[in-house]
Amino acid sequence: MSSAPLCIAPNSNGILRRVGIYAEKLGANLMERLTEYDVSGNVKMQKELIEPNKVWQHPWHLCYRVHLHQEMKRRATSANDEGIPAVLKTRSKVSSVDPSIATVVLEGGERIQGDLVIGADARTAVPGGNIKPKPSGKSAFRFLVSRQAALDDPKTAKFAQNNGEFLLWFGSDRRVVMHPCSNNKQLNFVCIHPREESEVKNGEGWNQQSNKAKLLDVYRSFNPALLALLDKADAETLRVWELFDMDVLPTWVNDKLALLGDAAHPFLPHQGQGAGVAMEDAAALAVVLPRDTRLEDIPERLKLYESPRYERANRIQEYSRIAGRDIGERSIDMMEYSTYNFGHDEWDHSTEKFRQWGWSQKPNLFWRMPISFGPMPGPRQDFFGMPRDPTYSTFVTASFKFKTSRTLLQNLLPTAAFKFTSPGTVAYASFSQTTLNGMHWLGGGGYRHFGLYIHGVQYTRKDGSVVHGTYLPILFENLTDPIVSGREELGMPKLYCAIEIHQRTHSYHIQASWQGVSFCDLALEGLREVGPGSEAGTIGGEADDGILAYKYIPRVGERGKADVEHATFVPHAEESKVVPSKVNKVRKASSASIKFESRDWEALPTLHHVVSRLAEIPVYEVVGAKVVEGNGGIDMSQNSDLPPIKRFITSHTPGGKTTFIDTISEEAPFKTLPDGAKFALSYATNRFPVSLTNDADLTTYSHYTQNLPGITISTGTVLRVVDMKPGALSPMHRTVSLDYGVVLEGEVELVLDSGETRLLKRGDIAVQRGTNHAWRNTSSTSWARMLYVHQPAEPLIVGGVKLEEDTSTIPGVR
Ligand SMILES: Cc1cc2nc3c(=O)[nH]c(=O)nc-3n(C[C@H](O)[C@H](O)[C@H](O)COP(=O)(O)OP(=O)(O)OC[C@H]3O[C@@H](n4cnc5c(N)ncnc54)[C@H](O)[C@@H]3O)c2cc1C
Repeated sequence: MSSAPLCIAPNSNGILRRVGIYAEKLGANLMERLTEYDVSGNVKMQKELIEPNKVWQHPWHLCYRVHLHQEMKRRATSANDEGIPAVLKTRSKVSSVDPSIATVVLEGGERIQGDLVIGADARTAVPGGNIKPKPSGKSAFRFLVSRQAALDDPKTAKFAQNNGEFLLWFGSDRRVVMHPCSNNKQLNFVCIHPREESEVKNGEGWNQQSNKAKLLDVYRSFNPALLALLDKADAETLRVWELFDMDVLPTWVNDKLALLGDAAHPFLPHQGQGAGVAMEDAAALAVVLPRDTRLEDIPERLKLYESPRYERANRIQEYSRIAGRDIGERSIDMMEYSTYNFGHDEWDHSTEKFRQWGWSQKPNLFWRMPISFGPMPGPRQDFFGMPRDPTYSTFVTASFKFKTSRTLLQNLLPTAAFKFTSPGTVAYASFSQTTLNGMHWLGGGGYRHFGLYIHGVQYTRKDGSVVHGTYLPILFENLTDPIVSGREELGMPKLYCAIEIHQRTHSYHIQASWQGVSFCDLALEGLREVGPGSEAGTIGGEADDGILAYKYIPRVGERGKADVEHATFVPHAEESKVVPSKVNKVRKASSASIKFESRDWEALPTLHHVVSRLAEIPVYEVVGAKVVEGNGGIDMSQNSDLPPIKRFITSHTPGGKTTFIDTISEEAPFKTLPDGAKFALSYATNRFPVSLTNDADLTTYSHYTQNLPGITISTGTVLRVVDMKPGALSPMHRTVSLDYGVVLEGEVELVLDSGETRLLKRGDIAVQRGTNHAWRNTSSTSWARMLYVHQPAEPLIVGGVKLEEDTSTIPGVR
């Protein structure tokens, strides 16, 4: 950085302010007005900027470079700020860089290895090969003039009378740019002109006086007032700089090396954006490299850094070239590109790109409204797209099954493809109300639902195949979250109402209401406990295939038209993954009744049309009424009967005594994979040997629990427990790693791709060396459990062929 001042436009000022650097505290003044002159000193354009600049969140400052540089350096090296203080090594010429191992060798032979290398001036490491900076054809005199000196001279006072005034004098192939800085006390000049006119000729010394003579000579055709101002150039600060340009690099990134700032895209000064764009690069890097970034992810993160930056930096670079063209080659308007330049916050921009990348890493995530916030967790997925664990949920279902009119219910079937299987005029239906609790996806809470289930319905698909099911024309629920997810993900016809329950030892009463207006009473009396086996006949216990419904999403802006309209079918087995059904207790009612009050449009403005139709349904005969209670794990084959595992992790007190930690749960965090196997990432590291100082490894492991790694970690180790379902056979897969596997429970068969197998019993050990293999739980009734330690290996060459990793067959390993 030279000693000259710097425009800090709103886009870069926002980044500085985000990290707590306020240019005004460093003596910067505001950019308040723009005036353009021609060679003769006529005003060609004048613009007040105070009001127009109010559209930008951050100010447009004119700052003294050295002040900003010093403050940035102070912050980077300060022990009082966040992060590890930077160590500056100046005058350290780099002789070579190895991007694959993030190593830099200095000219003196010192070798420095890091997690990554940022090339902020290291042009030798340019990933573009031979692309080098080249002359732009122009050079710039840069110097300061005391504002007071300009004010004291009547010829030049007019140029200095306004605070924050940015002045330009345009000649055909040269220009003078001037603006105040240092609390409006200094005037900064950049005088851009054809390079050959200020070149050092043979025998010509470059003393400062001759510089000033040259400056006045280069601008001799400009009007005398300007020349009088140039003549006040502070000889101490007067320098001439050749301006370089460079072709666009094909990439800024090579493995663990990334370029930023002028090293990636050197800037011509015509827009005052080069340093700002370098700051934007730095912000983007900080976003994609949060502190918990895994070492093995760095090359991908650097590519991620480049993708949002490349287009923008190169575009502003090109604007600067255009803004620098001579008169005649373009009409010059210094403000022309400001909207694109200023209207951008790189921190926010990169943050969104980084988020989107995170989502793209989990392609099985459910998306639904509101999409602005990313994929939605719900009953069928957690934040990582993993299935929910239904083990701890409970349910109580009160159902009322009755004989009724087929011809009346038929009017509730949505299309001709739905019909009753039986031609008789008698049909069966149930009103059923369930209270769910302990639901993982609701943070351990629950909700109630209440619906009409019409049995004995069949639906004929377009291909002619028929499914038999129970048709659900309406399901009331008392919580928004399942209403939304059920409507969108399952196509269920859900509406809101309040559902109150009072249950006594022998009775169960349900009241449905909307905003204080009750419209249904369901009463089960004389409840007596019977064996849990007699739950058949309730919802889910019907001898059919599942629940039929009809999804309809209206089209925006076209009444009566649908965006989506089709039958839906949730097999009982599928639904059971969400709604628990292991029955613990059944109580049958000796009598039951249901009563709907149809109310009027005013009382039930949004439900009247539904409730009045439900009220029409006749109850010819009560077939059965009961209350069934149970808990999670409907498909019991999904539930391991193996005990939870505890791991006890130690740390140290500041005095060096060993203790157990309490910041990570002792219980191993089992997650269910889509195929039913359970993985518990019990510990993981990203380095070997591992760094235990400051509990760095605990931080790494905590990160991995939230961002699950693949089966192995290419730079560290993994301790994992795997539970296998009865009879499970994993897909064949290979990781390039050395794996120690121990059977903790049950018996498992290790199957190799040669066809060879070995049976491992409890306590037996497998040592796998980049092995292509599958595991089979040989029991059809019991779960099996294995413990693995995975260690990364160098590339595996056998018979001259590199054996590649393949875990693509294993669903949801991350
Ligand atoms: C006349 C002129 C006016 C300008 N005006 C503005 C303006 O108003 N606003 C604006 O935003 N931009 C402006 N720019 C552009 C701006 O100066 C650059 O774009 C900006 O300085 C680039 O920052 P950088 O950190 O990428 O590179 P540099 O500023 O070049 O910094 C690179 C640093 O790396 C150091 N270095 C090199 N090798 C090593 C090594 N081996 N070890 C340690 N350190 C090393 C160098 O000494 C240097 O300090 C102007 C440019 C010019 C020429």
